Amino acid sequence: MLVVNEVATGVVRDGGWADAGGGCGDGRGRRAPPGSLPNMLTIERAIVDKIIAHARADHPDEACGIVAGPAGSDRPTRFIPMTNAERSPTYHSFDSGEWFRVSREMDDNDEEMIVHYHSHTSTEAYPSRTDIGYLRSSLADPRVHRVIVSTRDPDEAEFRSYLLVDGEVVEEEVEIVESYE
Ligand SMILES: [Zn+2]
Repeated sequence: MLVVNEVATGVVRDGGWADAGGGCGDGRGRRAPPGSLPNMLTIERAIVDKIIAHARADHPDEACGIVAGPAGSDRPTRFIPMTNAERSPTYHSFDSGEWFRVSREMDDNDEEMIVHYHSHTSTEAYPSRTDIGYLRSSLADPRVHRVIVSTRDPDEAEFRSYLLVDGEVVEEEVEIVESYE
């Protein structure tokens, strides 16, 4: 687990993953086949800070959003906070109109969803039963890194990432870098 020390101001218990039907489903392989490389999310510190700030700002409701990046890159570069249409401390889902616009924008830019994030506001940064159920469903794109931030502690945010590997939800390493270059 990674505990992130914050300077950030603040923005999520829990419901379904909120891809709102937005699988990036063209089958372009970004990640190497399971077993050939360690599962790891590499992400810039500035983006981590923005995700935590969003989670703090929306607390005590859950926050959700994505980080897009060039298609096939596995590199999250464009932070896109989304509206939690549920406005709930225990559930999140994307607003369908907003998600439609964002999806189209990503297509136009030859981007795809690299990271999906949401927050837990009173529990640890671990997938809930609902989260796991969603991830195991056919709706979830297994190539997407699933970040969960916990804002239950006002001073320290937990930032963890998960992947669906062979039908199981597994935690992956998070490497925070100052810059990708
Ligand atoms: Zn959750």
